[in-house]
Amino acid sequence: MGKPVLVGVDLGGTSFLTVVTNTKGKILSKKKCKTRVEEGAGIILERIADTVREAVSSADARLKNVRAMGIGVPGPLNPETGVLLHGPNLGPTWNNTPVAAYLSERLGCPVYLGNDVNVGAVGEQTLGAARGYKDVVTIFVGTGIGGGLILNGKLYRGTRYTAGEIGHTVLLADGPLCGCGRRGCAEALASRTAIEREIWAGIAAGRPSAIPAIMAEMGRQDMSSSVLAAALEQGDALTEEVMSKAQYYMGLLVASVVNLLDPEAVVLGGGLVERLGGDYVEPVREVAEQYYINQQERTKIHIVEAQLKDQAGALGAAIMARQSWERDHARKK
Ligand SMILES: [Zn+2]
Repeated sequence: MGKPVLVGVDLGGTSFLTVVTNTKGKILSKKKCKTRVEEGAGIILERIADTVREAVSSADARLKNVRAMGIGVPGPLNPETGVLLHGPNLGPTWNNTPVAAYLSERLGCPVYLGNDVNVGAVGEQTLGAARGYKDVVTIFVGTGIGGGLILNGKLYRGTRYTAGEIGHTVLLADGPLCGCGRRGCAEALASRTAIEREIWAGIAAGRPSAIPAIMAEMGRQDMSSSVLAAALEQGDALTEEVMSKAQYYMGLLVASVVNLLDPEAVVLGGGLVERLGGDYVEPVREVAEQYYINQQERTKIHIVEAQLKDQAGALGAAIMARQSWERDHARKK
């Protein structure tokens, strides 16, 4: 009998990361693979199962030592049945897929399904920037804006399991069009996609910008976080202006969260935050604090940068699996 281990998988549209950890979340092995969405759910799930077998063996463990596995997926799901309802970034072959049951049968261990952003919040709260805090809101800024809520130490999923859709908080009525089809959502004002759209609009209107030259130099087709960071380092006025507007809206979003929940910590994560660090977080905090209704003891609200980078989802999935396993185990007793 070897020591029990946990498995965590973070499934994204481009790649998936698999980690094997001890029961406290210390990484014993990890493996990153391409998702290749065009292959469809069946083949991808087989590849995930194969990768888990390899990662477990790299961790000097066996499948029978896996206490529980968690998988974070991008889309609405039912955590009780382990069914992914649909995954906009994964394609239609994933509609109503019993992901947990499928992997559990292949691997012979309990498998738990969670939303990728929610499990990222679990990761940051148990092992990352919000360790030691019980009431935590995590906001991830990338091509979209996603969120996760941990209340009293537990992931809060909501009545229909869709809590944390913070990116679709409307901050500007009749504002720019959002990916969800509505207007003026935080995601349409402060995501990297929104920043990119505003910078292109500025360039099209004749504003000078170093962005096209930086993209050419880096060989990038898109305005990645690195491109934006380089433009800010060069003091590109258009990028500075667009970025500070995005940070203003993010500050309003953080303030709304604080006024609603008065949490101990708000964790900001995602590619852009990772790349810019304090330069991203500080202006957001400044705006947010001005909009707190309760101005007493403002510093008790910790607005912090995420720590686990691209491992937050996989680590959080492993910890969520442990917590769910413990809950199921206690029920059976
Ligand atoms: Zn929206």
